[in-house]
Amino acid sequence: MKDCIFCKIVKKEIPSNIVYENDKVMAFLDANPTNPGHTLVVPKKHFPSLLETDDNAVKELFVAVKRVANAVKEAVGAQGINIGVNNDRAAGQIIFHTHVHVIPRFTGDGLQMWPQGKYQKGQAENIKKEITKHLK
Ligand code: AMP
Ligand code: ZN
Repeated sequence: MKDCIFCKIVKKEIPSNIVYENDKVMAFLDANPTNPGHTLVVPKKHFPSLLETDDNAVKELFVAVKRVANAVKEAVGAQGINIGVNNDRAAGQIIFHTHVHVIPRFTGDGLQMWPQGKYQKGQAENIKKEITKHLK
C-alpha cells in the first residue's frame, strides 16, 4: 500500500528499531512509547485494521505477539504486559495498517487503561442478544 508508513517500515524504506521478523510478521519499537519497550507487532501484508485482517494473518500475528510479549517482559523487567489494538478512528487508531500494541507494565506505573461502568436494567441481555445475532 503506497502511502502507508508501516508498509514502508516493513519494506525497510524508512528506519525503525526492529526487534523481530519472520516472513509474515514484523515487530518494532513504538516511536512514542507508553513505557520503554512498547512494541508494535504488524502483519507484513497491508490490512487497514484487525477487523479486516484475514484469519490466517491474525493467527500468525498473535503467535508472534505472544512470543514478542514474553521477550519484552523479560527484557525490560516488567511485571505485566498490556496487549491492545485500536480499530478505527473512534477507538484511537491513527495508523491504518493492522498493529498490535505490546505495552510493558510496572507495578505502580499509574496507567489506567479501561474505565469501568455499569449496565442499566435489561441492557446487558439486549446487547448479548444483538451480538449473538451479528456473529458471522
Ligand atoms: P494507533 O493509535 O493504534 O494507530 O497507534 C499508532 C502508533 O504508531 C502510535 O503509538 C505511534 O507512536 C506509532 N508510530 C507512528 N509512526 C511510527 C514510526 N515511524 N515508528 C514507530 N512507531 C510509530
Ligand atoms: Zn500498510
